[in-house]
Amino acid sequence: MKNITIIGTGYVGLVTGAGMSEFGNKVTCADIDSKKIEGLNSGLIPIYEPGLEEVIKRNFENNRLFFSSDIEASIKKAEVVVIAVGTPQGENGMADLKFVDAVVDTISRNLNNYKVVCTKSTVPIGTGKNIVKKIYNKIQDKELFDYVSNPEFLREGSAIKDFLWPDRVIIGTDSDKAYKVMCDIYRPLYINKNPIAHTSVETAEMIKYASNSFLALKISYINEIANLCELLGADVHDVANAMGQDGRISDKFLHPGPGFGGSCFPKDLEALLAVSKNNGLKMKTVKAAIIANNNQKKRMTRKLLNLFDNDLNKRTISVLGLAFKANTDDIRESAAIDMIKFIIDHGGVVNAYDPIANNEMYKLFNDIHYYNNVYDSIKDADGIVIMTEWNEFRSLDFKRIKKYMRGNIILDTRNILNMNQLSEFGFIYDNVGRIKK
Ligand code: NAD
Repeated sequence: MKNITIIGTGYVGLVTGAGMSEFGNKVTCADIDSKKIEGLNSGLIPIYEPGLEEVIKRNFENNRLFFSSDIEASIKKAEVVVIAVGTPQGENGMADLKFVDAVVDTISRNLNNYKVVCTKSTVPIGTGKNIVKKIYNKIQDKELFDYVSNPEFLREGSAIKDFLWPDRVIIGTDSDKAYKVMCDIYRPLYINKNPIAHTSVETAEMIKYASNSFLALKISYINEIANLCELLGADVHDVANAMGQDGRISDKFLHPGPGFGGSCFPKDLEALLAVSKNNGLKMKTVKAAIIANNNQKKRMTRKLLNLFDNDLNKRTISVLGLAFKANTDDIRESAAIDMIKFIIDHGGVVNAYDPIANNEMYKLFNDIHYYNNVYDSIKDADGIVIMTEWNEFRSLDFKRIKKYMRGNIILDTRNILNMNQLSEFGFIYDNVGRIKK
């Protein structure tokens, strides 16, 4: 059992805190956002993540999980300090490390005894080395800390499952002592023979970027295959299924759609590209994944315009799904943002509905109409665009939709609607790479 402080209580920090306390450690989640901390201390969970509330509640009640906005005191009492603040995109695609730098400063001022300093935020390759230098510059006793890179691979929407049952845990450190400490934290996984890999700091940092970029590449690849399927009369679902049966390819991340979004892929690809460029290397595959993704988002908006014969003026479009993917309230870089902007720019009216993410989207667009259920949002709509693959959209009542809508146009950017039914009810529709029925 270790005494851990996690700095940054966002998607990653909160799930990590909940998960590490579930493993039996004593964890404090610290954040400068005192409102968030107050809320957590009174049982309010700031993000939507299936299963998270239950794990937090259990460990909070059992005195293994604490929340604090006193960052300095939280660092002082910890054996392990985990950095989990945001690393948004900065200038020239580089990751902006201002939050990490601020935390590193605070840590260096509060190293009252030996600690393992561990970075879970996604940081460019070479950052760990710089963090170590920065701390060395501020302290006398170099034995006061060891550094670990422990990148996080959780997916929003299934974060708790991913954290508690990970495919792999990467521990990048040149200190055997720190490695043992980290293994202790993850001990329940260790017992279950979950693969814990010990690497160098740089290798750990690279594994995170290489993994995210590869997954994004896979998405861009299947999206481009889907676009070609449309032109050649092939069906991308059959293509992707058959491809996925090949063990060398695997069936994951082969779902065509409106282009990837979220808080990670877009910025991580840009950051990898910037790091490679700064080192004199052109990573053309990564660049291609970014370009293909931007094209895919545009392609979806063009599809909508085509369905309306190039005229969206005064048309009411019901946008179903705002989150960048199902089971999260995160709208960062969501393809729905591009779609909403496009409709507004073309004189259309947006009716928006998401089971969870309406409030988040309201922060970006406060002058569109938000609804609390699908059927209210489609009343008198000329068209519907499905942007997120929420389960509730898979079983829509077409009879009711037909009755409520003014028009009969549906764009399904997630390929979740039954095309036989769409045809049966007389909808004019489009999707991504399917043979139309
Ligand atoms: P987030 O924006 O949800 O949360 C960051 C938190 O850090 C916020 O609560 C903020 O108030 C807090 N913070 C900022 N500065 C602080 C400071 N000086 N002291 C204390 N708290 C501070 O970010 P996130 O989505 O959890 O991502 C965190 C990191 O993890 C990023 O590097 C991201 O790339 C990486 N990551 C994210 C995911 C994901 O799915 N979201 C998955 C894997 C890795």
